[in-house]
Amino acid sequence: MGAAHPCLPPGHRPVDHPRAVGTRRPRRSDDDSRSPQLNAAPADQIRLLDLQKLDTRLNQLDHRRANLPEHAELKKLNSQLDQQRDLLVAAETEVGDTEREQTKAEQDVDQVRRRSERDQQRLDSGMVTSPKDLESLQSEIASLARRQDSLETVVLEIMERQETAAERARELASAVEGLEKTGTELTARRDAATAEIDAEAERVRRDRETVARSVPEQLLALYDKLRAQHGGIGAAKLYQKQCEGCRLELNITEINEVRAAPSDSVVRCENCRRILVRTPESGL
Ligand SMILES: [Zn+2]
Repeated sequence: MGAAHPCLPPGHRPVDHPRAVGTRRPRRSDDDSRSPQLNAAPADQIRLLDLQKLDTRLNQLDHRRANLPEHAELKKLNSQLDQQRDLLVAAETEVGDTEREQTKAEQDVDQVRRRSERDQQRLDSGMVTSPKDLESLQSEIASLARRQDSLETVVLEIMERQETAAERARELASAVEGLEKTGTELTARRDAATAEIDAEAERVRRDRETVARSVPEQLLALYDKLRAQHGGIGAAKLYQKQCEGCRLELNITEINEVRAAPSDSVVRCENCRRILVRTPESGL
């Protein structure tokens, strides 16, 4: 950023600068014919500069409040939280699914094991005597053993998947907890910073009200109207022949007009149309 603008808070540019700095608007005498010449005591005009300082400060505070770094940090954090919570839900769902899968697979193993036990009891009972039946029974016991073996492998595989999902769910829960803690801290920091800004703004607003009450009504109305139209600056000091509102130096014709104007007439900058306040430093 270039040289600081004395009327503006740091980081602010004059808002109403549609054209390059240093170029002039055409003279708009029609403006003057529309608004009747306003008169105000020089002291009242100078009070506008105090008012402008307070209004500028209020604008700065609004800007700072709206742009606290915590706002951006919280936004980023909340989007991370959403993402991690979604992943956590998915991991917990998988834990539940694999638990059910495991129960089912264990029931299958039990069924095969019980049938094998029954076969073994029949074999041991000595009641089966035909060689053909004995062979068939032994063959079934062997087949059930292979079946049980493969079902137990399935159970182990499910348990492994379940452990992986549970581990992932624990990691995600811990990540979510960490993010939530950071969120709480960030929110507290944001609220504290906002409260501080609000308190200062409240003090400035009270000062502003006091100063505004001492400014004649019509002058105040013009100032407020111009402030709304011109990026928050309605009155500017004429300093060393330069308008501190638009930073342009008045030309010789304009200087002569300002010089000729009675001290109680409210002068406007030909370029930016703001109220131009004359002080001993105006270079007139
Ligand atoms: Zn100007």
